[in-house]
Amino acid sequence: SSLPIYIDPRKYANHEMALEGQISLNQLKELCAALASDVGEVAVHLNFKVDEDRRYIATGNLKTQVQLICQRCMEPTPYDVDIELALAFVYDEDHAKNISTEFDPVVMTEGEIVLAKMIEEELLLALPVVAYHDQSGCNPIALKYASSTDDAPDDEENPNPFSILAQLKAKS
Ligand SMILES: [Zn+2]
Repeated sequence: SSLPIYIDPRKYANHEMALEGQISLNQLKELCAALASDVGEVAVHLNFKVDEDRRYIATGNLKTQVQLICQRCMEPTPYDVDIELALAFVYDEDHAKNISTEFDPVVMTEGEIVLAKMIEEELLLALPVVAYHDQSGCNPIALKYASSTDDAPDDEENPNPFSILAQLKAKS
């Protein structure tokens, strides 16, 4: 089931419509720039309605698996994304400020939103700043190469001077 490119959230909310479908990661160029692979699908599920404050809202979730670069061995590592969405559709940035914190404001342009763009922004927010394989999940050959170029001091051999200071203070 393919999803529409543009949607009018007011129409969807007024008719209490749902959106359910898949979008290919390779359609999300900005997101793919942060990934090790553009292969995969995002499962999208959204339920629209007008709430008691007459706001156009949508709740639902996004699910996908992306490949991030492990910062220890520099090889791809899978990362599961499963985020709950609570969106409120507004006309401009001023209206966005008035939305309570339980909703993420989404600004409509000429009463419409570009669905893929909105999904991409939510996914970008959900990605971790750095990713690592699980313990011992790193590629050992790549790890050896990556660590040989890393001359950062080892934390365990060089105790934090502030923790020594704290110990001295505690004793006095
Ligand atoms: Zn790794």
